[in-house]
Amino acid sequence: MNVASPATARTVGFKHGERNVFFHLLTACNLSCRHCYINPDQHGTQTLSLETVRQWLRLFARSEQETNLILLGGEPTLHPELPAIIRAAKNLRYAVTVDTNGYLFHDLLNRVTPDELDYLSFSLDGPDAATNDPIRGEGVFDRCTANIRRAVAAGFNTSLIYTVSSLNVEQLPQMPALLSDLGVHRFFIQVIGLRGSSATPQSEAATHWQVEPQQWLEIIPQVAAEAAQRGIHVVFPKVFLDPGEQFQCAGIVSENYFIFPNGRVYRCPLCEDYPIHSAVIENNRLVPCDGLTEERFFQLTIPEGCVMNRLLQPGNISYHSDGTPVHCISCCLLKQEILPVSS
Ligand code: SF4
Ligand code: SF4
Repeated sequence: MNVASPATARTVGFKHGERNVFFHLLTACNLSCRHCYINPDQHGTQTLSLETVRQWLRLFARSEQETNLILLGGEPTLHPELPAIIRAAKNLRYAVTVDTNGYLFHDLLNRVTPDELDYLSFSLDGPDAATNDPIRGEGVFDRCTANIRRAVAAGFNTSLIYTVSSLNVEQLPQMPALLSDLGVHRFFIQVIGLRGSSATPQSEAATHWQVEPQQWLEIIPQVAAEAAQRGIHVVFPKVFLDPGEQFQCAGIVSENYFIFPNGRVYRCPLCEDYPIHSAVIENNRLVPCDGLTEERFFQLTIPEGCVMNRLLQPGNISYHSDGTPVHCISCCLLKQEILPVSS
């Protein structure tokens, strides 16, 4: 392993004017991952028509600036008109990413060109089938990696998302070698949130999923540095702010929209399991919501940092004997990155 010139992580602060739109086109999926956060009761079960998607894309597009668009599901490639959606988005000046579980339905690679899609992002939760498939499903590792190779060979920009939990954190150090072999350009490391099925008591004890802070801090930066040494751009969540680092809530300082098929629009991903969305799309118009919405929570200032994390995942926080938190938890949307180390 060559880590002679260590690549250092830098925090990617919230940039003024940056806009990110996370658009769930449908909630249907062919898989049943154990940590899936999709919640049809809160997010709807419909598949949006091409015309509706076009209308909704117009609501969030800006002609004077590029907006990042991440097309999601469920599994977005189950949408038969995904290529037309991608083209419509490009015409509205979006930079488009499709987040897929790797199945690439409806022959996606032959129906769009690498020029039409900024990134094709695959989800994989292990460096081998023995780790990945118990989390994501039988046969998923082979199918997903075969399609990554096809996408890379066809000239698409590819990225890979690895959701770290106690089930796969020890295997994470094996990922940089696999990514090099696959030819993946960008690596997103996520930490599991205690939401959706990962938090339901009937599935398994929620705490079994969590990674200890020390484990996260020891393993993730090293793996990220090694991937960067291999020429891969790595992005991972900040999670714990350093002493003196300023806390900022993306709901206040940044423009992120999480759109669901039932028309709900959230500004914070931690709020998505609750009917506290900021706005709703009605008759193709964006209507702000009244009453107790997530925006009320964004205003609260607490020493623990992120209010929603304190409310929903209090087990993430430990305290000194005087009651002060050991770590200030950053906004879950705050990222660190390590740029590829050029050879
Ligand atoms: S691929 Fe995504 S949407 Fe489908 S079950 Fe897995 S996490 Fe959920
Ligand atoms: S994760 Fe926390 S800090 Fe970030 S937008 Fe949500 S409430 Fe704000």
